[in-house]
Amino acid sequence: MNDLRRAIEASTAVQDVVARVVASGWWLQGPETAAWEEDLSVYVGTEFAVGVSSGTDALEIAIKSAVEVGKAVVTAANCGGYSTTAALRAGYAVRYADVDEESHLLTAETLQPVLDETVGAVIVTHLYGRAAQVEEIVRLCHSMNIVVIEDCAQAIGALVADGRRVGSVGDIAAFSFYPTKNLGALGDAGAVATNSLELVTRVRQLRQYGWTAKYEIGIPGGRNSRVDEIQAAVLRTKLSGLEHANSKRRSILERYEAAASKRIRVLPATGVQHVGHLAVVEVGDPSDLRDHLERAGISSDIHYPIPDHKQPALRSMYTSVSLPVTEKAARSILSVPLFPEMTEEEISSVCTALSTY
Ligand SMILES: *Cc1c(COP(=O)(O)O)cnc(C)c1O
Repeated sequence: MNDLRRAIEASTAVQDVVARVVASGWWLQGPETAAWEEDLSVYVGTEFAVGVSSGTDALEIAIKSAVEVGKAVVTAANCGGYSTTAALRAGYAVRYADVDEESHLLTAETLQPVLDETVGAVIVTHLYGRAAQVEEIVRLCHSMNIVVIEDCAQAIGALVADGRRVGSVGDIAAFSFYPTKNLGALGDAGAVATNSLELVTRVRQLRQYGWTAKYEIGIPGGRNSRVDEIQAAVLRTKLSGLEHANSKRRSILERYEAAASKRIRVLPATGVQHVGHLAVVEVGDPSDLRDHLERAGISSDIHYPIPDHKQPALRSMYTSVSLPVTEKAARSILSVPLFPEMTEEEISSVCTALSTY
């Protein structure tokens, strides 16, 4: 599905920067982290960005910083379980809204029926690289005093309809730089972004033991979740190539859309509102398509096979939950390879396999 070595082999800049940080003797909470947080906030279009250890930590810390204790968090059940994991760890009840049939994303319309005064926040995931219509969701949620948290792990760089970048529209946003994401570290890293000084202050405290001053635990629920200087420096270096990489991903996805046979629906990619994180197709019998691809030497995967409310460790909490679109989608999706360093030969072999099915 991926070959992460290709990007690194092509870049001496990343290797040079790692050597420089190792030699600097400063490996946490130093100048690279500060510079990276500044660069990321400028790119995303927020006042602030804060580096943390992973995308899941970013979600957990964003939730803890922004959501009233005792309220519920509403999210989608088709996004790999990360928002659920984070909300449960933060100590909140999780409720699910179904997703839109065409985009597989939450919309104001799918959220409306589950929102009430017991809900403190909605987590909107810009799934597969496609920006959700988060402006409309913000309008709805703010009219009900509900916080909007954007999960941008799969969509860094994508633009919402009015031209802002994902992560700058809701109240607070989480990013992951897991190696296979569109902007990947050489290990784990994440970030929280927001325009709110109040929220960013709490995020900075929560990521470092709840400290309000050195060695003074001023707020509860703190933990250690920092980003390494090496990862910050690598991400800074790679950020300059992100736009180019995203547009390559987009153009590969467009070729899949154009090539696919009538039996396959490639989930829609809408221009700059999509950064081609995953190429997901809908098909009557995904395992049959999987065999067809396999015979052509092409790997595939399912993102994601088990909706959150059906997960073995969670389903006893959600026995009465029914999400027809989410459940049907999980049975009909398949992801095919999509990464910017794919060769022309690899791309055309996927196109051929999709068109001959
Ligand atoms: C990868 C991912 C996360 C979690 O990020 P980690 O860095 O692996 O913790 C959260 N949300 C979504 C949508 C993701 O794809």
